[in-house]
Amino acid sequence: MGEDGSQARSEIRRLLDEHGHRPTKAYGQNFLADPNIVRRLVGAAELAQESQVVEIGAGTGAMTAVMASQARTVVAFEVDESLAPLLAETIGDLQNVDLRFEDAAKIQLETVLGEGEWTLVANLPYNVGTGIVLDTLQDAPSVKRIVAMVQREVADRLLADAGSKTYGLPSVTVGLHAVGRIAFSVPRQVFEPVPRVDSAVIVLDRVPAPLLSTRAVELATAGFAQRRKMLRRSLSSVLPDTERVLSEAGIDPTSRPEQLEPMDFVQIAEAEENRR
Ligand code: SAM
Repeated sequence: MGEDGSQARSEIRRLLDEHGHRPTKAYGQNFLADPNIVRRLVGAAELAQESQVVEIGAGTGAMTAVMASQARTVVAFEVDESLAPLLAETIGDLQNVDLRFEDAAKIQLETVLGEGEWTLVANLPYNVGTGIVLDTLQDAPSVKRIVAMVQREVADRLLADAGSKTYGLPSVTVGLHAVGRIAFSVPRQVFEPVPRVDSAVIVLDRVPAPLLSTRAVELATAGFAQRRKMLRRSLSSVLPDTERVLSEAGIDPTSRPEQLEPMDFVQIAEAEENRR
């Protein structure tokens, strides 16, 4: 193990072997087996001594240990309780780590985190990654920054610009709550076991959400559910007087959802509100 707790591939293999743990696909268990990438990922979070970190998916504890050496506290969630003995070996002695065996997709992050500001740092499991990012942005305002490893394709979708093929509801939600960027790309070979796809690390910095952002996301949900249809059709079931409200918002009723910027959905919500 590295001095900061990072784990090379040989170390991860030894840990898995000694604890008889076979990585589970259902939990997206592709562990980071390159200490340099772990350091770059954690580095992108720009942690300081007083930082409070929440990690989703502790895995073998490689990231957890590095973060614990840089931050005040790390709350680490892990759904797979069979990793408990392995994690006891790697991070069991770290006083500032609070390891919780819970399903992060089922918790209300805002209510389980303590007071103050938090940074979410994670190598996210592929099956719940998008949901965790979007739920955190919408429901956990004390998380001010998200630094997450996700599949490259997911990163592209979360950060897509209006008008592009990958632009959709996730991009609108991110656009309303954060300023985001891809920090760096990550080849599949750095994981153990090696997955089928490449990854990327994204950094999302929270910005104050506009009023009516919840309604804007509801409207975007309806729009993108029928992506090819014009908004005057796709929004008709959720927005009374659709055509007129769209016009009042300055939006062409014949446009399609991917042509709208995130703030355009807010404008529609505002036009709707003004009619009340
Ligand atoms: N952080 C470790 C690393 O970088 O090597 C592990 C990353 S691995 C991609 C994802 C981890 O998330 C696995 O340990 C998996 O068991 C855990 N996980 C999967 N679904 C989860 C969930 N719903 N809640 C909490 N942890 C979850």
